[in-house]
Amino acid sequence: MLTAIGDVMRRLYERGWITTRDGNASLRRRRSKLLYVTPSGWRKTIIHPEHIIKIGLSEDGVLSVPQGAQPSGELHMHYLIQRGAMRARSVVHAHPTHVVAAMYRGFDLPQIASQFPEIFRYTRVGPAVGAIPAITEALGEATAVALGIDGADIAFDIVGQHNHGVTSVGPDPWAAYEHIERLDHVCEILLASGVTPEEVERRHALGEMTPR
Ligand SMILES: [Zn+2]
Repeated sequence: MLTAIGDVMRRLYERGWITTRDGNASLRRRRSKLLYVTPSGWRKTIIHPEHIIKIGLSEDGVLSVPQGAQPSGELHMHYLIQRGAMRARSVVHAHPTHVVAAMYRGFDLPQIASQFPEIFRYTRVGPAVGAIPAITEALGEATAVALGIDGADIAFDIVGQHNHGVTSVGPDPWAAYEHIERLDHVCEILLASGVTPEEVERRHALGEMTPR
């Protein structure tokens, strides 16, 4: 699974959903006391298992970062999403172009998702968080709340972060990636259709799934 983190980061880069040093990911095995996190600032296209930082996770929530290691600036967000996990969990943060564009245009991601079976059958899309600066505890906290983290449970698979990106969660890095891919695909379709946020809102209010 550690190899998958590097593979997912490379795929995100190839898709144009992160620039070279953007994005981050974490992995926690079932009930493990270790949290694996991508390094900060490192070129994400050359991440391999030996570059991933191994952080100790104590019962009382203290993180032990190895001396000299530079984990992702979004470590707090990863910690908040991972701390209660009872099964293997992977968290991926990226900047998928069409999702960020759709939010910027004023579309509501859960509303969009409710109209496309391609996504609602497999991916639970939570409410987007506001435009909060990157690498702040506030962004991590708002993201964990939006995902509906409640102990070991999680209400949604992915949430948007306005003017920024998304954070997605799955049992492994590729599962988290797939949620991003599905959401980006329906946002791309929506933007290509030329529909306005108001029109989507109206159809949603009428309970219409298929446009006339
Ligand atoms: Zn970011």
